[in-house]
Amino acid sequence: MPASSEERNRSERERMVAEQLAQRGIRSEAVLAAMRRIPRELFLPAGSRGRAYADGAQPIDCGQTISQPYMVGRMTELLEPRPELSVLEIGTGSGYQTAILACVAKHVYTVEWHLKLMNQASRRLEKLRLKNVSYRCGDGSLGWPERAPYEAIIVTAGAPDVPEPLCEQLAVGGRLVVPVGPTGDQTLVLVRKTEEGAQQIEVLKCRFVKLLGAAGWRE
Ligand code: SAH
Repeated sequence: MPASSEERNRSERERMVAEQLAQRGIRSEAVLAAMRRIPRELFLPAGSRGRAYADGAQPIDCGQTISQPYMVGRMTELLEPRPELSVLEIGTGSGYQTAILACVAKHVYTVEWHLKLMNQASRRLEKLRLKNVSYRCGDGSLGWPERAPYEAIIVTAGAPDVPEPLCEQLAVGGRLVVPVGPTGDQTLVLVRKTEEGAQQIEVLKCRFVKLLGAAGWRE
C-alpha cells in the first residue's frame, strides 16, 4: 500500500533532522525535537510543498524566502532557548521559524513587514495550536519596545549593521542573532550582552533577504 502523504512527510522530516541537522552538529535536543514535530510543508506555497524538506531556502509570497532548515536549527540553538524565555523575532515570513521558537520558549513576539505574510503565518500557527505567540505588522528593525527586554532576539533578514534598537531591547545576559552585511556577503553575528557591555562573535557566512526599515536597508 502506498504511504500516505502524511507518513511520507513524517519520514522526510526525520531524515531532514538526522542528515541536515544532527549530522552537521546541531546538538540541542529541544531544537531537534521541535524540528521533528513541526510539519514544514504547511509553511510553503501550495505548488512547492514537495520541496518542504529540501536542503535550502525556498521562495514564499511577497518575494521573500523560508530559510534553510539548517539555518533555522543553528540560529535557534545559538539563542540557547529555555522554556521560560521571552523571544523577539524580526521577519516572521512563512512562520516556520516562529513555530520552532514557540516550541522551545515561553512566548514569542514576532514582527513582519508584509501584512499578507503575517496573516498567513498566524493562521498556520493557530492550526498547530501554538498560542504563545504575539504578532505585529511593521518595522521590526526598531524592535517591539513595549515588551522589552527580551532574553533572546532573532533577526531572519540581513541588516547593514547590528540594529541598535534591538541591542537596547536585549536583556543583560541575553543573546541576539542577526545576519549582517550586503546581500551576497553576510555574516551571522551573535551578540551577547553582559553587565560590561555587548560582545560580538561572527558565526558563519550566510545569505538572507534584506532587512528593510529605519535600522535596516532603505531599499
Ligand atoms: N524566518 C522566515 C524568514 C523570512 S525572510 C522564514 O523562514 O520563513 C525575511 C522576512 O523578513 C521577510 O518576510 C520580510 O518581509 C521580513 N522583513 C524584512 N524587513 C523587515 C522589517 N524591517 N521588519 C519586519 N520584517 C521584515
